[in-house]
Amino acid sequence: PDIASRRWLAEKFEACGLIPRWDPAANLFGLPPQSGQPVLIGSHSDTQPEGGWLDGAYGVILALEVARTSQESGGPPVAVVSFQDEESAFMPLSGSRYFSRYLDLDTLYDLTNAAGQRYGDEATALPEVQGAEPLETNHFSHFLEAHIEQGPVLDLANETIGVVETIVGSRQFEVVIEGQQNHAGTTPMSLRRDAVTGFSAFVSALEQRYTAAATPRSVWTIGRVQVHPNAPSIVPGSVSCSVQMRDGALNQLDLMCDITRDTAQEIAEARNLKISSIQNKSVEPVDMDERVINAFCEAANLNAPGRWRRMPSG
Ligand SMILES: [Zn+2]
Repeated sequence: PDIASRRWLAEKFEACGLIPRWDPAANLFGLPPQSGQPVLIGSHSDTQPEGGWLDGAYGVILALEVARTSQESGGPPVAVVSFQDEESAFMPLSGSRYFSRYLDLDTLYDLTNAAGQRYGDEATALPEVQGAEPLETNHFSHFLEAHIEQGPVLDLANETIGVVETIVGSRQFEVVIEGQQNHAGTTPMSLRRDAVTGFSAFVSALEQRYTAAATPRSVWTIGRVQVHPNAPSIVPGSVSCSVQMRDGALNQLDLMCDITRDTAQEIAEARNLKISSIQNKSVEPVDMDERVINAFCEAANLNAPGRWRRMPSG
């Protein structure tokens, strides 16, 4: 269905005068015939299970409509793209990573999905991709993407447009709290080094300190918790958990990382536990081009006065 949807899209490109062009990653571009550096607009046409019919596809169809309108009205050259595998069947953003040269073709082709299929075997089996040439990023002047809101902010405020000013960055820690595993019936309370009560104190302290330091855009999640040995009659010996934080500003992420480490150390000392906190993921925030932001803000002001805002992406 993924490839069928893009073959359908290639037909739509031809119908409005764009030239379909596949690259070696099986990304599908629709290039305008006229000369000049086109602006590239698009998104992805795959989605998550039950991701909704607007995730990704909306941004591709919107781009098609903008390009079609521009062709019909003699506007500036607009190119369209549907990126392959945004949703991580093989790797998150694998198609756009290849296009932007964050991933070379050999590495891309060696990726395998959960079914054991190799990216390169699947891509080169497509006649469209055999002998396909890569496109350089400087073929295009800008890249724009329209995407359905992935959070409740606009919806709850009854607004229609969010102009993204930053793609937020994230930091993630793997925290391991070690106490002493013991018998729940025979170990007096005063002698316990209970990893779960330590975990509880750690989470409460983090909640308080993050809240005190947060900007309106800071979010944090302790999404995965594992207790060992996870049995009713045993004083828990260890707890491991993920601690993830996101914000659009680098200094805010750094501050939240410091809070995480300091809190771990304090709780460990106060409760005679051993707590290790290892940062294992880090994605840097990226600011969008101020000229593009301003152009979108002007347009939003004209078309949806009072019903739009600048915001970070999720
Ligand atoms: Zn999406």
